[in-house]
Amino acid sequence: MSPETDTYQRLTNSQPGKLLAGRLGLPKSTPLRRYEPGQELLTGPALIGAAPGGRLDGVVALLLRECGAEVATSADEDTRYGALIFDASGVEDSTQLRAVYDFLHPVIRHVHANGRVLVLGTPPEAAATPRAATAQRALEGFVRSIGKEIGGGATAQLLYVAPGAETAAESSLRFLLSSRSAYVDGQVVRVGHGPATAPVDWAQPLAGQVALVTGAARGIGASIAEVLARDGAEVVCLDVGAMGEELSRTANRIGGSALQLDITTPDAPATLATHLRERHGGAGIVVHNAGITRDKTLGRMTGDAWDAVLGVNLSAQERLTDALLADGGLVADGRIVSVSSMNGIAGQRGQTNYATSKAGIIGMVQALAPVLAERGGTINAVAPGFIETQMTASMPIGTREAGRRMNSLAQGGRPVDVAETVAWLGSPASGGVNGNVVRVCGQSLLGA
Ligand code: NAD
Repeated sequence: MSPETDTYQRLTNSQPGKLLAGRLGLPKSTPLRRYEPGQELLTGPALIGAAPGGRLDGVVALLLRECGAEVATSADEDTRYGALIFDASGVEDSTQLRAVYDFLHPVIRHVHANGRVLVLGTPPEAAATPRAATAQRALEGFVRSIGKEIGGGATAQLLYVAPGAETAAESSLRFLLSSRSAYVDGQVVRVGHGPATAPVDWAQPLAGQVALVTGAARGIGASIAEVLARDGAEVVCLDVGAMGEELSRTANRIGGSALQLDITTPDAPATLATHLRERHGGAGIVVHNAGITRDKTLGRMTGDAWDAVLGVNLSAQERLTDALLADGGLVADGRIVSVSSMNGIAGQRGQTNYATSKAGIIGMVQALAPVLAERGGTINAVAPGFIETQMTASMPIGTREAGRRMNSLAQGGRPVDVAETVAWLGSPASGGVNGNVVRVCGQSLLGA
């Protein structure tokens, strides 16, 4: 969907519109910078600071220099920063949280449009003492508040890195600092131990991978297929027979292959597992994206509408996953990424069936994370918020405008924003990211 469709954003970014919006106190909606191959990582220099005992500031500084970014370690009031990065991993007591304030307070108003604030911590569950765990958990409230204050299309995230997993954090640092994470805001991501293989070329992080994407004919699934192919993967695009034409178009556009299959049929798991094993030697990345809605409030919802949504969105995924894990459809250290939804977290009127299925996806991801970890693999979920698709374009204007503005970035996301997040989670370099649920929602107020 073209950005021109967001008339509010266009008007409030024109000179007279800006003035009027400011006077009326309307939400500011800054056009987001999105990834293009060859783009600079940051929009300006990075300022890095650390509390005593930090394990991560050195890793980040090295990475940024490798990426050609300018790195400063002391603040300069005339500079506008592309990123403010604070390593709080060494904070062991609530009294030491003052260090985060001291670092960010003088510079928080000196962040470029579309800049990044990144706080690094130690996962509370891995902290050495109850006091350290308390202080580390406190960082969540800080970062989520920065996300709501910062404006200008800038985002704030908290990255918890387990002790000893410092090098496994690279793919997540690159994602969260770059414009690939344009619509990811106010999130908490955990990096743990897991075999993370850095790619030969970070511009092609999925080179040599085979990826399966369900529901790839159109919408978010087509965008996921495109981004995975752009990043170097060979993509198998799956959708129902009725979408055959659109499916072939997506597959042809990206040089992938098309597989017509209804994932709810009894033989779908075996057919898919055999296809991936025999034609491709197993997939390295499986993206469960196919999904449907059949909205009605519970009292008016038919049993068929309940069954259809639970069937496609949850039970079929479980059956496919079991089959792929059992007989080589997914390679041993493969990645699974499931598309959940913000409504699975927050609940939604008229969507008891849909929200049940999408909350179930989160349950599945969390329950299977240890199973995948044993094989050297990972499973994670993305939970999109308001994404500009044909579905949202046909909403009544009031509902659509409310959905667009009720988040820290005051706009809807695009399918590509979900796709970039899936590509990061699906990467061989993201082996330390397992069992996470990452919202792609511009820090929506719903379910926060
Ligand atoms: P869409 O309807 O445009 O695309 C879904 C695709 O899944 C279609 O091509 C459809 O044919 C396919 N599909 C449906 N049933 C299938 C089956 N039984 N077997 C194989 N393929 C099947 O939807 P979308 O908006 O692109 O959504 C994609 C995913 O993102 C869904 O899981 C959806 O729940 C989720 N999501 C979307 C939004 C949003 O704002 N659009 C928000 C949150 C979550």
